[in-house]
Amino acid sequence: MQYSEGVLNLSRALQFKTVSSSDIKDFDLEEFSSFLDFLRETYPLVHEKLELTMINDYSPVYYWKGSGEDLPILFLAHYDVVPVNEGSWSVPPFSGKIEDGRVWGRGSIDDKNSIIGLMESVEKLLSEGYSPKRSIYLAFGYDEETLGKYGATKIAEYFKENGIRFDYVLDEGGVVTNGDAMGVESDIALIGVAEKSQCNFEFTFTGDQGHSSAPPKSTSIGKMAAFIKDVEDHPREMRLTPPVEEMLGIVGSHKKGFSGFAMRNARALFFAIKKAMASNKQTNALLRTTVAFTITSGGIAPNALPDKAKVVANVRVLQGDTPEDIEKWFKSFNHEFEIKALALEEPTGISPTNTKGFEILKSCIGEVFDNPVVSPYLMIGGTDSRHYGEVCDNIYRFMPCMLTSKDLELMHADDEHITIENFEKMLEFYPLFIKKICG
Ligand SMILES: [Zn+2]
Repeated sequence: MQYSEGVLNLSRALQFKTVSSSDIKDFDLEEFSSFLDFLRETYPLVHEKLELTMINDYSPVYYWKGSGEDLPILFLAHYDVVPVNEGSWSVPPFSGKIEDGRVWGRGSIDDKNSIIGLMESVEKLLSEGYSPKRSIYLAFGYDEETLGKYGATKIAEYFKENGIRFDYVLDEGGVVTNGDAMGVESDIALIGVAEKSQCNFEFTFTGDQGHSSAPPKSTSIGKMAAFIKDVEDHPREMRLTPPVEEMLGIVGSHKKGFSGFAMRNARALFFAIKKAMASNKQTNALLRTTVAFTITSGGIAPNALPDKAKVVANVRVLQGDTPEDIEKWFKSFNHEFEIKALALEEPTGISPTNTKGFEILKSCIGEVFDNPVVSPYLMIGGTDSRHYGEVCDNIYRFMPCMLTSKDLELMHADDEHITIENFEKMLEFYPLFIKKICG
């Protein structure tokens, strides 16, 4: 079987073990350097014609100067990947194996496919002699999976310091997916226009020390458990934000019966639909700030009272709430604890959908895919693009791939792979989009 050069390059890209970790000391930076060398060798025209600035040693920023006056567009992607559990894969996770019409490996749909898709597209446009009116930047993070402190944050600072602003940013995020999960017959393309933020809080509960044979009414662990139960039983209020309202309206217009009517009139009928939406984990997370208690620690011996018990809560903050609101809210439960903020992030702004860029994105999606319903949506997970709010107002998160809800489960999971058909859609989409948006 003969594969295209693009597919072979994706396979090669997947062979670098660019695994990110919560501690920068655990990064195997040689693998990251080798990956960047690989880009240099594989895309000679990009490296000849575009200006390359390396941010913080491992984040390449490519600049393709346009002839016109419009503000540039920025394409984002990341080349770090999450770790693998090697034993549970059916192919070696860093083999880039091509089989069954698929390219297998960690990073194949998150997010080396975007990097290779973009580089292939730009290389091809250059070889055809294309030159854009609007300037183009490509910026690749190397620690997106561990919050982007060294990659995206630094790149965004570089742009800010140099007064570089963008009309549009395009990052990974939504995809084209089958509509049946939403009860719609046609496919749905989701473009992320906002992201919830992540905050982590640590709570410490104090109790009596001593022998467990004469315990107090409640130990530190008992107090902690009561607090957890209280918070879980009284979740934060539900609210409709503009991207969710717009999505419900668009999806609802493709649905018959009462549910379609209720979705189209979500604001007026919110009291009637919120219970159903709260009963589904995914839709619940679209409508409120959520709290997940994720780490606990307490005693050290079965027969000794633990004087301290600790729990960490991972909070996903919805637009309209701030980290301070959430801290106050935790305190309002009136349990006795010490609270420490481990990580605080504000939710992102909401990008408008009435821009020319959004229209062009929509039309390219319609052309490359089978005319799916296109809708904005709120991302409950994070991407690097959230760091760029100060240099761009129109940030769109969309990866031109058709992934069913089952395919989406492959992200961060065993046997991650992309179909060649999907990767070819990416190679079709980016040049088309670049030509339309850059002139
Ligand atoms: Zn990603």
